[in-house]
Amino acid sequence: MLDNSQYLIFTLLIIIASIIVLKLKILDFKGTISSIFMGNLIYLVTGIGGFILVIEFFIIGFICTKFRFNQKRRKGIAQEKDGIRSWQNVIANGFAFSLFGTIFYLTNNEIFLIGFISSIAIATGDTLATEIGLLSSKKPRLITNFKQVETGRSGGITILGSLASIIGIIIIILSSSINGFSINIDLLSIAIIGSFCGILIDSILGATVQAQYFCDKCEKFTELASHHEQQNKLIKGRAFIDNNIVNLFSTLTGSLISILLIVIF
Ligand SMILES: [Zn+2]
Repeated sequence: MLDNSQYLIFTLLIIIASIIVLKLKILDFKGTISSIFMGNLIYLVTGIGGFILVIEFFIIGFICTKFRFNQKRRKGIAQEKDGIRSWQNVIANGFAFSLFGTIFYLTNNEIFLIGFISSIAIATGDTLATEIGLLSSKKPRLITNFKQVETGRSGGITILGSLASIIGIIIIILSSSINGFSINIDLLSIAIIGSFCGILIDSILGATVQAQYFCDKCEKFTELASHHEQQNKLIKGRAFIDNNIVNLFSTLTGSLISILLIVIF
């Protein structure tokens, strides 16, 4: 897995990627540093194929966050700081795939590779559900009771967002075989199901326990505890369960579902 010329190519790639990430304001400085560490770990434990998969997640997430950014900002509250993400986002999204990648490396058991791929698929699908869902002409419906809710309410789902998340999941899972992981199609199909469960868990937690705030200035619902450097009003859920905690939990559990489904069937 570790030959020197490949590691040289990887190092070049990660330096170029870091400069782009900072220049395009995808991540702030701390976010970039944490993703360099995470990128190195992923490369060491899953090889260049796993690293490329993570890069795909980054690129898809970036394009969808910036896509019609102003329209999203008018409708709901777009990501704060013009969509620049920090180390908390990196850890929340990357913890599950770092963990499953490392367990795969230590055990060499393919089911953990499925866990690794599933967690990247969930992170990608979740980003797409949010970012593309915000563009829906229809108001979202709450996943728990299907009542119409305002745009920006966590746990609100749209058909457009759900379709986008399924497409994101399928892109990541199918491209994993192009990236050098020869995994049979049955296992990949199970990974698609497990990943979709992860997205559902994310929405259910969003609708129930996730902290939901209201910004008086924008007169909009938001997942952000503060906006315009002011504390928002907590209207539902628990303050310590923010979007990052929900992402962390749903990527872990969705990937575990993929693994359990493979163990059972
Ligand atoms: Zn506001």
